[in-house]
Order: sequence, then C-alpha cells, then structure tokens
Amino acid sequence: RVAYVNGTYRPHGQATVHVEDRGFQFADGVYEVWSIFDGRMADFDGHMTRLARSLTELRISIPMTRQALTQVLKETIRRNRVRNGIVYLQVTRGTARRDHPFPAEGTPPSVIVTARSIDPNKSEAVAAKGVAVITQPDIRWGRCDIKTVGLLPNVLAKQAARERGAYECWMVDEMGLVTEGSSTNAWIVDENGKLRTRDTQANILKGITRTALMALIADQDVELDERPFSVDEAKRAREAFFTAAGAFVMPAVSIDGVRIGDGKPGPITTKLRTLYLDQARDEAV
Ligand code: PLP
Repeated sequence: RVAYVNGTYRPHGQATVHVEDRGFQFADGVYEVWSIFDGRMADFDGHMTRLARSLTELRISIPMTRQALTQVLKETIRRNRVRNGIVYLQVTRGTARRDHPFPAEGTPPSVIVTARSIDPNKSEAVAAKGVAVITQPDIRWGRCDIKTVGLLPNVLAKQAARERGAYECWMVDEMGLVTEGSSTNAWIVDENGKLRTRDTQANILKGITRTALMALIADQDVELDERPFSVDEAKRAREAFFTAAGAFVMPAVSIDGVRIGDGKPGPITTKLRTLYLDQARDEAV
C-alpha cells in the first residue's frame, strides 16, 4: 500500500507526519471519505464541497486547487489498485511549534491521502442480514475532565483571545458560568473576598496546578469556595487569575475589556503566585 503525504507517495509503513503536526497535537484538522466503485469516487462533488466548507469554517487555507486534489485522490486510488473500497483525505493546520493559537500565516496545511480495498461481497453479506445498534448519551466534547488531544475547541477559543488582544479565553457554559480557560483553570477573589474556582466534574480539567495551589491556600488566611462563578461575578471580582503548568498563577486584569479591581495584579493573586513558585521550585524533582 501507498499513502500520499505532503507532496509525495510513500510506502504505507513509512507514511508519517511530523510529531508537531497540529492534527496530531490538537485534532486541528478536517477529513473526508469517499467510497470507491470500480475505481471511481462516489458523491464526489458533495464531499469536495463539504471539505471546502469545513476548511473555510476553521480558517485552514485551501491546500491546493480542486483539480490538483482530485488528481492526488485518483492517483492514490490507482497506486493502491483499489477497485472497491474507500479513499481517506485529511487536511490539518500544518506543522508548527506546539502552541494553541493558529500558527503564523503561510504555514502550509498538511495533506494526507490513503486508500484501501473493501470486499463488496463481504459488505453485501453483512447488509443482507442487517446489524445491531446500541444507544449511549451523546457526550461529544463533554468529557473535558480527560486531558485529551481533542483540543480543537480550545484552539479556537485561544485564537479568539489572541485576535482580541487577550492572553487567555475563559469559556462559559449555558448557565453563564465560567467553566475554565482554553488551557488553564479560572479563579477569582469574589466581592466578599473569597477565593472561587469551579468544582471539578466532567466539564473541566482538574488542573494539577489548581490542586497544588489549593493545598497551599489551606494554610492561608483566605477562604476557598469551590463553586462556579458567573461572567458577571468575575467582572465584579476584586481579583482574577488562572492556573496551569507554564502559566503558574497568572493575574487577569481585564475580562471582556472590563477592568478587574484597579487593573493591576491583586495582592492575593501576587501572594499565591509567589507561594506556588517557591514550593514548585523547592519540590521539583
Ligand atoms: N484546563 C485545560 C483545558 C488545560 O488544557 C490545562 C492545561 O493544559 C489546564 C486546565 C491546567 O492544568 P494543569 O494545571 O494540570 O497544567
């Protein structure tokens, strides 16, 4: 078997993309599958049109002309001698140093194509009998407690932040409550002087920095209330900050353009940053 990878046809076993391909790192890509009948692709235009739409929606640049892409699909089918089967196309936002926001303009998207045969007699035999179905709750994007590489929503949130001159984006649930940052946990010192951060259920990642900071807070003269806060509460908060490996304890001085406190890192935030950094340095192995 042979696969097309960024301009060349390679033996299937050696058809690799870079470790920092954004498809691999962030699921930052799109795909299409065509079925092949007698060496020809079914519903060709429908899949091509949807591909163009998916790319446009994610603002991934169109990697090549439709004509060139058609040629690559046909050539991959031909080289694999597929009469009946499928051809798979994936386009990602390309290879760049791992960082959530979109890479610099001009970063070429990655394009890979594979094709494989499927025995039509076998699928007809399955269809002749019919198959079983089960049901499950639709949890797509719902298991934010797992640190998965399915980070496309986080990528889009971080990119939105960058485009509005911000460092981080706090995401908000359907109740208007902050869940977490695109790659950080969100905290405030509320109007009553209590530290607030959301409790950890399926809808946020239980940050290691968050947990470590909580242990430090236990020794401090400040109350911790592990409870969600709304965007309005955040905007009225005395202080705001977020935590993550790499960001440590990062003060947020404005939210949606609204100044937090006096627009400078607050005293509790600053204290917690120092406490965290001191302990992290001390305990680093
Ligand atoms: N929330 C999300 C969505 C993250 O991706 C991260 C870190 O990457 C965090 C929170 C913070 O987790 P930690 O403190 O373990 O780095």
